[in-house]
Amino acid sequence: MISSERSWTGVVCGCLAVLAGASAHAQPVQSVSTNDSVSAPIRDVRYDVTFTKAHAQAKLVEVAMTFSTTGSAPVLLSLPAWTPGAYEITNYARWVTAFSATADGHAVAWDKLDYDTWRIRPAGAKFVKVSFRYAADSLDNAIAWAKPDFLLLNGTNVFLFPEGQPFEYSATVEVHTDSDWRVATGMSSAGSSRTYSATNYHDLVDMPFFIGKFDLDSARVSDKWIRYATYPAGAVSSSVRQAAWDQLKKVIPPEVAVFGEVPWDNYTVMQIVDSSFMGASGLEHQNSHVDVLSPQYVGSEFQPSLYAHEIFHAWNVKRLRPAEMWPYRYSRPQPTPWLWVSEGITDYYADLAEVRGGVVDAKGFLALTAGKMNEVMAAAPIALQDASLNTWVHPIDGTEYIYYPKGSLAGFLLDIMIRDASDNKKSLDDVMRGLYQSSYKQGKGFTPTDWWTAVSAAANGKSFAQFDAAYVDGRDPFPWDSVLPLAGLRVRQDRVPRLGVTTQQDASGIVVRDIAPGSSAERAGVRAGDYLVSIGDIAVDDQQFGARIRAKYGASVEGAPLAIKIRRGAEALTLHGQLQFAPGEIMLEPDPAAGAKAVMIREGILKGAVSK
Ligand SMILES: [Zn+2]
Repeated sequence: MISSERSWTGVVCGCLAVLAGASAHAQPVQSVSTNDSVSAPIRDVRYDVTFTKAHAQAKLVEVAMTFSTTGSAPVLLSLPAWTPGAYEITNYARWVTAFSATADGHAVAWDKLDYDTWRIRPAGAKFVKVSFRYAADSLDNAIAWAKPDFLLLNGTNVFLFPEGQPFEYSATVEVHTDSDWRVATGMSSAGSSRTYSATNYHDLVDMPFFIGKFDLDSARVSDKWIRYATYPAGAVSSSVRQAAWDQLKKVIPPEVAVFGEVPWDNYTVMQIVDSSFMGASGLEHQNSHVDVLSPQYVGSEFQPSLYAHEIFHAWNVKRLRPAEMWPYRYSRPQPTPWLWVSEGITDYYADLAEVRGGVVDAKGFLALTAGKMNEVMAAAPIALQDASLNTWVHPIDGTEYIYYPKGSLAGFLLDIMIRDASDNKKSLDDVMRGLYQSSYKQGKGFTPTDWWTAVSAAANGKSFAQFDAAYVDGRDPFPWDSVLPLAGLRVRQDRVPRLGVTTQQDASGIVVRDIAPGSSAERAGVRAGDYLVSIGDIAVDDQQFGARIRAKYGASVEGAPLAIKIRRGAEALTLHGQLQFAPGEIMLEPDPAAGAKAVMIREGILKGAVSK
């Protein structure tokens, strides 16, 4: 999952208010899976999803599930509480209405065992059908959303599963819609039109649907079909569409190169553009992802970054993932201290895919990286493991999603250190590819030992215990001064002139509220209540004030004279201050004095290359 930074707090879900209550109730749901509440086994499972123009007007979907069962024990059917990738409890059962159950054609008794579990009593009848309506009115890539000509539907929203039974059951899905509407999904065709099949529940709920009117085209990338489905029709102009295809064709091959294989038969980029949505957000799946964007993000610089991030997840988290999330459980949260790898390192590879594929140049990559450094420095110190765990409760201290940029930077540090220790013969790519083979391909998640063993092996046996203790489990600031030179890079930090006041705009102008002790303003005699007129002869109401101040004084020495013009009551005064500087944003640049090995490492990272 990723959202644009402007939308970190608002976008990820519209259900923040639900969450606090929902988490507290997570335990009883878990208890449903104990032995005394196991569903009778079911087979021949089929789901029917009906969404026509009439349903679209009512913003609802009709869902039916049919199966056969034997014996007289109750069948317990549950809906997921969350969608993997969107790490929060949403409780999809809340949008179910008009639930009913029949067996062998007759109505049968049912009640709720829990708020997301229905208990059906077939009383010896064999063929059971349950039906319900599902309200589709939430614009969120993990929830269902209907428009008069369109539906986004996630399997987690509507596909009931039998409690306590294995998830490894096959199922068929048939979509019933108007003949002039389209269906897009990553699900495999079951042969007939609009009928699909999955061999297990995990795949079934990991392949969302677009149903209705939308644009759809496809192209071969890395020898497989990529489909690009965008709603509403016409929302992505032909030139922007061409640019999007160009970006997809550039970022996918470098990602394939990391793992050495394309894990999908086909991949569908599913994109919704809607002006009611603030920011941009993507949610990953094994052979598709769903993006929701406000119109200004279409064709923006963030767009290729979003695509590259979500597509890299097809390997990292959908297949290679932490042991805590293997296998997925849908009735309760699955926190892990390793989202900094699943999300942060995914974001590092999104930047690498952009530079290796030619979407951005080296300077652009360094700017993306520096942006993350500034973001992390502005946040409260927090361990990557703690930030990873915390995301489920949406902490309010500004660190809710810091494991994205901070995890990305941890990946960058590890990449440099591995390349340095191995004379650039190995890289973080080897760690990712090795774990993909030794964990995912062996049908399991990776453990902390798996991770650090792989990192250490790539780094010629170097121990990362201290790195782990200080920067992953610990809160120490990252060791940029010692690691960046290994890749021929250095930090440059601008200084910005600082007066040391907080101000407020009122009807009379810009008024001083607070003055920092020892600041230039205090030493010059500025008082709370003074109105600032100009600083260094630059009017404080100048739209370009910040840029003009930096241009005029950026090269000056600390302590140089600074005229501060103010109004104090009826008086106009000029106070004589002295220039002070504060640190500005960090920038990252190549060090022209870097040695041959460091240059080789820097180039290796940018090009995805290692030495022979
Ligand atoms: Zn993500």
